[in-house]
Amino acid sequence: MLSLPRFLVLLLSTLTAVGYGAMAATPVKVDTARIAAGDSEPQNWLSHGGTYAETRYSSLSQIDTANVGKLGLAWFHDFDTSRGQEGTPLVVDGVLYTTTAWSKVYALDAATGKQLWFYDPKVPGQYGIRACCDVVNRGAAFYDGRVYVGTLDGRLIAIDAKTGKLAWSAKTVDGVHSYTITGAPRAARGKVYIGNGGAEYGVRGYVSAYDAKTGRLAWRFYTVPGDPAKADHAASDSAIEKIARPTWYGNDYYKYGGGGTVWDSIVYDPDLNQLYIGVGNGSPWNRQIRSEGKGDNLFLSAIVALDPDTGKYLWHYQETPGESWDYTAAQQMTLATLPVKGVPHKVIMHAPKNGFFYLIDRLSGKVLSAEKFVGVNWAEKVDLETGRPVENPEARYVDKPFLSYSGAAGAHNWFPMAYSPRTSLVYLPTQQIPFMYTKDGHFEFKPGQWNLGVDMMGGRLPTDEAGREAMRNALQGWLMAWDPVAQKEVWRVKYDRPWNGGVLATGGDVVFQGTATGRFRAYAAKSGEQLWDFDAQTAILAGAISYAVKGQQYIAVLAGNGGGLPLTLPSFYGPQPKPPGRVLVFKVGGNAKLPLVDPTLAAPNVPTQTWSADTVERGRVLYAQHCASCHGMETLSAGILPDLRRTALLTVKDAWEQVVIGGALTSRGMISFKDRIDADGAEAIRAYVGSEAAAAAVTEHR
Ligand code: CA
Repeated sequence: MLSLPRFLVLLLSTLTAVGYGAMAATPVKVDTARIAAGDSEPQNWLSHGGTYAETRYSSLSQIDTANVGKLGLAWFHDFDTSRGQEGTPLVVDGVLYTTTAWSKVYALDAATGKQLWFYDPKVPGQYGIRACCDVVNRGAAFYDGRVYVGTLDGRLIAIDAKTGKLAWSAKTVDGVHSYTITGAPRAARGKVYIGNGGAEYGVRGYVSAYDAKTGRLAWRFYTVPGDPAKADHAASDSAIEKIARPTWYGNDYYKYGGGGTVWDSIVYDPDLNQLYIGVGNGSPWNRQIRSEGKGDNLFLSAIVALDPDTGKYLWHYQETPGESWDYTAAQQMTLATLPVKGVPHKVIMHAPKNGFFYLIDRLSGKVLSAEKFVGVNWAEKVDLETGRPVENPEARYVDKPFLSYSGAAGAHNWFPMAYSPRTSLVYLPTQQIPFMYTKDGHFEFKPGQWNLGVDMMGGRLPTDEAGREAMRNALQGWLMAWDPVAQKEVWRVKYDRPWNGGVLATGGDVVFQGTATGRFRAYAAKSGEQLWDFDAQTAILAGAISYAVKGQQYIAVLAGNGGGLPLTLPSFYGPQPKPPGRVLVFKVGGNAKLPLVDPTLAAPNVPTQTWSADTVERGRVLYAQHCASCHGMETLSAGILPDLRRTALLTVKDAWEQVVIGGALTSRGMISFKDRIDADGAEAIRAYVGSEAAAAAVTEHR
C-alpha cells in the first residue's frame, strides 16, 4: 500500500501533467500520414516541397489570375543577416518557420509576422570558407512537434516548435573534412534524413537517418567507395562493394574523397515506401584525374532509391555516367503519376544540372523519357534502350578545352520547380551559364581546399565594355513551362540574367517567381503572361510558398542575394543594393511598405603607395586563387561580401595583414590564410586590389 502522502504526490503530479496538457495549445502533431495527405490541408505547407511529392503546388485559389494584380505586402520580417537566402519556409497551423543564412531559425505568426522565437545555432564563422556556394540554408523539416535543421557546420538539430528550445543535436560529420550542410532535412517514419555538401573540397558523400525522437543515428548510406582497407559498417556496404566500387579505377580515387554529396534533394515516397536521394558531382570534377579517365563512378550524378527504415539499396539510375563537369543529380525530385505511351507510371520528374528533363519509373528505376530542356552540347541525347547519354566525344576535355553551354552552375540548379496538376505543366527556372572546361595540368590534391582538376585560372574577363556586353549576353535565364509527358516546352519568359529564383504554382492558375534583378512576379500558368510585379530590392533565389490563416490566402518568399554564382561572378551589372535578408508575405490588398534602401557604393579607397608591375601581377594570380570565389572575379564584388577596392583596410598595410594572415575577422567568416599565403603574398594581393581601386576611381569619376 502507498502511504497517503506519497499517493497524494502521485495524484497531484498526474493532475498537473494533465492540466499542462490541457492548458498549452494542442501539441502540433505532424507525422508521416499527415504530410502524405498534405494536399487536404492547403492552408499549411508541411514539408520542404509542400508535401512528400514535392510538387510545390498549392491548391489555394483565392488569389487568381483576375485579382493577383492587387497583391500587396501584408508584412515582412527582417533577418539579422544579409547573406544569401535560399530557404523555403514551412507553415504549420498559423506559424511560419523559416531558416536563414548561417542556419538560423525563426518562428513567426503567419498572419502578422510577430516573432514567436528565434534560434541561433552559433555556427563558427570559419565554416563560411568550407561552403562552396555561400553560407545559405534551404529549409527545415517539421515532425512531431519539432523543427529539424541542418547547420552549416554539420549538426542536425531538433528544436521544440512551441518553445524554440533545443531538444537534441547530432553531429553528422567528422569535423575534419570540409563538410557543410545547406540542404533541408526531410522527415518520415520516425526518422530525419540529412545529407551534406563538400564535393569541391575532397569529401566522400553520404546520407544519414536519425531517430526523430532521440537524435540517435539509425543508418548511413555512403554514395561512393571509400578506402578498400577500411570497412564502413554502414547500410551501403553491400551496394558499395558489389555495384559501386567496380566502376572506379586507379589507386587514388578514395584519397580524393570521391564526392557524391547528397546536398539537396532527398524525397520520401509514401506510395512505395522508398527514399530517393540525389547524388552530387565527383571530387575532383575531372574524371581523368579521379578515375584514370574510366568508369561510371557510381553513384555519382545518380538518383538512388533506398529503404527508408534500413537504408538498404533498392535501385539507382545514373544520369551522367563518369561525371566530369560538376553535373550533380542533387536537384529537386518531384513525384507524380503520368502517362507514358498511354500507360500511367509512378514517376520522378527530374531536371538536373546536365540539361535533360527525365521521367524515371519509381518502381524499377528505369528512365522512361529524357529530352534536353536547353541547348546543351555535352551529349546528343539519352538512349532509352541503354539509359545512357550519347556523349559529344569532345566533351571530356582530355586533349583540348571544351566550352559547354550548360556549365558547372547547371542548366537548372537547386532552384525549386513546381508542377501544377491543373495544367499538367512543370514550371522550371532554367539558365545558360557557359563554362570552359580545361584540364588542370598541375593538379595536386590539397586537403580541405578546392580540388577540381579543372583550371579555374585561365578565364580573364574582357576589359572592354563591348566584350563585357558579349559576356553578359551569353548569360541567360528563363522561366519555362514544360510539358513532362510530351517532353517539350510550352512557353517561356526570358530574363537578362541567370540565377533566378524558385517557382510556386497555385490553384488560382498563377505561377510565382522571384528574379536575379530583385523582382517578385506572378505569371498566368497557362500562357506565361506577366500579371504582377513587385520591387523586392534584392535578388530572390528561394522558392515561394502559399498558405492560409483564417481563410485569408498568403504568398511568402525569402529575399536576399547570394549563392555560388553571385559570390564569384563579378557584378558587371552595376551597384547592387544590400538590404537585410527578409521574408516577404503578400495578400490581396496588402499595403505594407519596405523601407527605402540606399544603392550608393562607397568610393574606391585608393592607396597612395604604388607597387611594381610584377608584384601587382603576382597579386592578381593569388587573388584569383584565393579571393575571387567570395569577393568576385577580378575584384568586381557583387556586393554580398565586401568589395575589397572599397574597404578601409586597403590603405593600411598592417590592418590588411592582420585580417588576411592574422585572421582578425574569422568570426565573420574571413579566416586566416596563413596556411596558403605568406605576408609578401598578402601584400601582393593588396597591391593588385589597390591598382584595381585606382582604375575604378578613374572610371567612376568619368
Ligand atoms: Ca558541385
